[in-house]
Amino acid sequence: MAVVWLDDVRADDLELVGGKGASLGELTGAGLPVPPGFVVTAGTYRAFIEDAGIDDELFSAVEVDHEDSAALKEAHETAHDLIMGTPMPEDVREEILDAYRSIGEGDAFVAVRSSATAEDLPDASFAGQQETFLNVQEEELLESVKACWASLFSERAIYYRNRKGFPHDKVDIAVVVQQMVDSEKSGVMFTCHPSTGEKKVIIEAAWGLGEAVVSGTVSPDNYVVNRENGDVETATIADKKTMCVRDEETGQTVNREVSSDKRHERVLTNEEIARLLELGELVEDHYGNPQDVEWAVYDGEVYMLQSRPITTISEGDEDAASDDGKSTNAGDDVIMRGLGASPGIASGRARIVTKLDHLDQVAEGDIIVTEMTMPDMVPAMKRAAGIVTDEGGMTSHAAIVSRELGVPAVVGTGDATSTIADGDIVTIDGDKGTIREGEMPEEEQRQPVEEARPKTPVKPMTATEVKVNVSIPEAAERAAATGADGVGLLRIEHMVLTLGKTPERYIEQNGERAYVDEIVTGVREVAEEFYPRPVRVRTLDAPTDEFRQLEGGENEPREHNPMLGYRGIRRGLDNPNIFRLELQAFRRLFDMGYDNLEVMFPLVNDAEDVVRAKEHMIEAGIDPEKREWGVMIETPAAALSIREMADVGIDFASFGTNDLTQYTLAVDRNNEHVANLYDELHPAVLKLIGDTIETCRDVGVKTSICGQAGSKPKMVQFLVDKGVSSISANIDAVRDVQHEVKRVEQRLLLDSVR
Ligand code: PEP
Ligand code: MG
Repeated sequence: MAVVWLDDVRADDLELVGGKGASLGELTGAGLPVPPGFVVTAGTYRAFIEDAGIDDELFSAVEVDHEDSAALKEAHETAHDLIMGTPMPEDVREEILDAYRSIGEGDAFVAVRSSATAEDLPDASFAGQQETFLNVQEEELLESVKACWASLFSERAIYYRNRKGFPHDKVDIAVVVQQMVDSEKSGVMFTCHPSTGEKKVIIEAAWGLGEAVVSGTVSPDNYVVNRENGDVETATIADKKTMCVRDEETGQTVNREVSSDKRHERVLTNEEIARLLELGELVEDHYGNPQDVEWAVYDGEVYMLQSRPITTISEGDEDAASDDGKSTNAGDDVIMRGLGASPGIASGRARIVTKLDHLDQVAEGDIIVTEMTMPDMVPAMKRAAGIVTDEGGMTSHAAIVSRELGVPAVVGTGDATSTIADGDIVTIDGDKGTIREGEMPEEEQRQPVEEARPKTPVKPMTATEVKVNVSIPEAAERAAATGADGVGLLRIEHMVLTLGKTPERYIEQNGERAYVDEIVTGVREVAEEFYPRPVRVRTLDAPTDEFRQLEGGENEPREHNPMLGYRGIRRGLDNPNIFRLELQAFRRLFDMGYDNLEVMFPLVNDAEDVVRAKEHMIEAGIDPEKREWGVMIETPAAALSIREMADVGIDFASFGTNDLTQYTLAVDRNNEHVANLYDELHPAVLKLIGDTIETCRDVGVKTSICGQAGSKPKMVQFLVDKGVSSISANIDAVRDVQHEVKRVEQRLLLDSVR
């Protein structure tokens, strides 16, 4: 049998139908409202490749050096062509089409979703790698199923499995075919608080199809509901700018602007919340643990689209949360309790860290015990076997970084730094959130699983997006861990400068392809880390004095003031050889599936610069209509030309206040003699920024800041007041900026009703 109906599937059919299929089958069987559908089994895929005799070829084609982009691309193309070019056996075709025709009236729009059998691996980003097709009908159904199979071999997926050493032939793929719910509203629901385990339901909701909420392209409403009495304790209504809908004409899923009357309207009625609560109770009862549910409302009915356990809550948290949440446990040898923030069990010598300068005392295998970790502790955290903090919740820095580093952690213990003595031997359990005296035998210590990202609703919900700046790809993990809404500026200068040679010299010696590969590799690390959150990558902007330090630097022009010289887009346009290669690298990344990348041009002055840059982008094969692209506003000329630049089609304008300040005030940012005059908050700078935001709002161009000033509270206040779309801050400032943004937004809301 090539297909099985969801009614006949149960949770333990994972091998047959993959994680997604099993979960939907289990929900259907439990009598919950799930849209009807069937699964093309994993065995059908396996039989397809084996019977056609393409399996060996397929698996050997993808055994490549994953850091070699050319090899990776070729591997993907070979695998993709093999699958798409091999006909599906007639009996399988018939069985799939027969099943499809018995859904709805026989011509239903269905969602075709990959359901990999290894999706339950302890790595969240694995799950998002395979294809989903929405609004499919009979004509495209079989090809969509094959495309799901082929998506097991996207460049991202091959790269990922090779990097993690996960054998390609151990992953199979089933395909769920399920009636589309043309939802009017949709979102996610956590049946318990995902960070504290408290008995509160957290619901996120937005207009239209759920893709917008799940992929994070819209800031949803957030409701916190008391499970005991059904009271909505808080309802934070977001500015929902976009929604995902089915285009009536083409049947395709498209992003639409939300009409102005609905943007600020509350999405869920109290009745709908009550129904969600009821379903939440049922689903949690059914599984016996807190669930993370995707839901949709259509024609007044609430449907459940998916349910998974909330992995960030550990056993015992609920009990802990119901008393003081961090009490010392009586009985056995548990000396303290906190929140299990990063899974795994580790024993070691406690190192009480009270100041940063104690960090060098943290030796390999120690357990760091500290009030609260700071970004500067990351190197020490890497050495540590475990981490314990007094303060913080599941999305605290310690929790996030520990999870990203794969180090077991217990956070929010209250007073570990005074209860545990320096040098004590302790064992921490990052699942249960316990700390015991003494050592656990080595074989009972458990290495933590890598990866466990924070769940979304616990960071401050802001309508203005808060992003992060990244300059070194190695920092991507840390940057992503801040919970930023994306990367507002990824500079490629560092990647290029670390080559140790000017781009020209590097290309002379290694060829153009190698230069493209270097950029692809560096940018990919960040794009992968953040996927699907957007990453705004900028073409090269290094002044000639920086290039001069490098091999080949002797050929750089000598300039009196490099800051006013040959840099940014002016250099790219004057001598496009290197610029074109950067755009080729971006194009390659788009082809590899990194559709979260956005392209940004530095130091433009006027519309003519933008027109020419756009032409190069088109020449490189990047479709400006399909991709998000924009410019930096770093010169007064750019700020004053914004309307004309908008006419060229930019999607966004990002204030580079480091340069905008120096060019507005005629103060070289590198010249210490005039450093006292350098003021990003100077009224003239603010006037340029404020006016530009106003024009951009008028013409529908998004605005952002990615200069250092974006990390300063005063600038944040000014920008949010003016209605900036996003703020990109330094890694360590992201959280503060999120809070500052939230505070200003709340004040604006209050002002508007007072
Ligand atoms: C800026 O000018 O503010 C900016 C972010 O760019 P850079 O610092 O790289 O010049
Ligand atoms: Mg700049």
